[in-house]
Amino acid sequence: MGTKYQQFHQRSISDPEGFWGEQAGLIHWHKPFGKVLDYSRPPFAKWFVGGETNLCHNAVDRHLQDRADQNALIFVSTETDTEKTYSFRELHAEVNRCAAMMQGLGVVKGDRVLIYMPMIAEACFVILACARIGAIHSVVFGGFASHSLASRIDDARPKLIFGADAGSRAGKVVPYKPLLDAAIRLSRFPPAKVILVNRGLDPDMARVAGRDLDWAELRIKHMNAQVPCVWLESNEPSYILYTSGTTGSPKGVQRDVGGHAVALAASMKHIFCGYAGETYFSTSDIGWVVGHSYIIYGPLSAGATTLMFEGIPTWPDAGRFWNIIEKFGVNILYTAPTAIRSLMTYGTSPMEGKDLSSLKVLGTVGEPINEEAWHWYDKNIGKENSPIIDTWWQTETGGILISNLAGITSSKPAWATLPMPGVQPVLIDEKGNEVPPGAGAGNLCIRFPWPGMLRTTYGDHERCRVNYFATYDNLYFTGDGALRDESGNYRITGRVDDVLNVSGHRIGTAEVENAIDEHPDVIESAVV
Ligand code: AMP
Repeated sequence: MGTKYQQFHQRSISDPEGFWGEQAGLIHWHKPFGKVLDYSRPPFAKWFVGGETNLCHNAVDRHLQDRADQNALIFVSTETDTEKTYSFRELHAEVNRCAAMMQGLGVVKGDRVLIYMPMIAEACFVILACARIGAIHSVVFGGFASHSLASRIDDARPKLIFGADAGSRAGKVVPYKPLLDAAIRLSRFPPAKVILVNRGLDPDMARVAGRDLDWAELRIKHMNAQVPCVWLESNEPSYILYTSGTTGSPKGVQRDVGGHAVALAASMKHIFCGYAGETYFSTSDIGWVVGHSYIIYGPLSAGATTLMFEGIPTWPDAGRFWNIIEKFGVNILYTAPTAIRSLMTYGTSPMEGKDLSSLKVLGTVGEPINEEAWHWYDKNIGKENSPIIDTWWQTETGGILISNLAGITSSKPAWATLPMPGVQPVLIDEKGNEVPPGAGAGNLCIRFPWPGMLRTTYGDHERCRVNYFATYDNLYFTGDGALRDESGNYRITGRVDDVLNVSGHRIGTAEVENAIDEHPDVIESAVV
């Protein structure tokens, strides 16, 4: 572990305002902020108070001067045999068209817009267009059934919903529109309008007269639109993303603008060591927070090229990812341990003869990675030459909080390792006391606010306080358990509401999964 990291981290936590104030220079501010942090009403913090910025400006417009013709977005859909690229200039034009569509329907700053779309480029345009005009987007993962979608519609009460006829998965058409129609029928607050991308995958797609509008027609109508960015105060809402949790109705995690932009810019720089011009492939879905932060806002704000993929890693064969990496010269691959384990079952022949030499950083997220999968990823994909970053974070945290920093701090298989600069994890034991520095185990909490953290749960501030800040005084409780070694590395052991008590030892689901996965005949396991 580099002492450079330790000095950097120590400085960042002894003077968080100084540290984050410096990081704020990574993004564009239309109006400078007056105060880095207002923590006068804990547990809620306001970051970069008074500053004005815009997430879309940072992701798109800002790059028009230096990299207008560089690819901003590569869209690959195996099943529909589509590969499309959009330069920053082209992305800017598409986002403006979409923003004009929304304005034409009366959508203004603060209105909610729900997105229920497959992994298509248009979903990226809508997200950025919402950010451009200050509309609050809420993306709902395409895998959710209509009653789940209906409950999210009722909570967010969107003025407008964006949908599509269908998605495509492992060679099969997955209709989206019937689920959307059913959800709107179930909902108590149906939207006035629905804009549909018709991919021609479902010739029988039903349309509701007067409500359903066609994306392609509206796009032509607004072909030359120029919609200026609406500058937002740093603490105004940018989006809502629902997270299920274990009990009750889904919680709408509400995120701000300025803190989020700064936190993502800092994580792109320090954790991924990702820079402008690099090609970045996160295999997640826009319906998850990983898609929001590290398919759309993070890489684009860094001036990188982001690759959006519709499909699964093993169809039509297990060489899918490796073909994409070779063809587009991917530099950073960010995927989930589940995907790695599923690819392991196919052995190494799918990557034989493939040139993966463009890769410089490999990332994992979403669950603990077991050691076997870690070594397979390292040996076969990274050729033991690309750092693996095991990034721990959550929907609520907005960006990565614990991870090794690519090329700077060491990795430790199955360990997320060290806190990101500016982040102060603590472990709390069963009696509610802080586990003293050094090795130990406990419930993982975060001591001090950080930019990008959830601002509230939409429409229910008290629920946010009770859920995240009431278990322990002055701490954000993550809901995860963790181990810490004597060097300060963290290993996430899984959700603490999901533990076995064996001879007084709390054993997390991840630890049991890890043990099962060590068996040579087992590739994947899930313990509940
Ligand atoms: P979500 O909010 O749906 O993105 O899920 C967040 C949860 O996923 C965390 O609270 C952890 O339980 C788990 N998780 C995410 N990343 C990691 C990681 N690198 N290692 C272990 N668990 C992780």
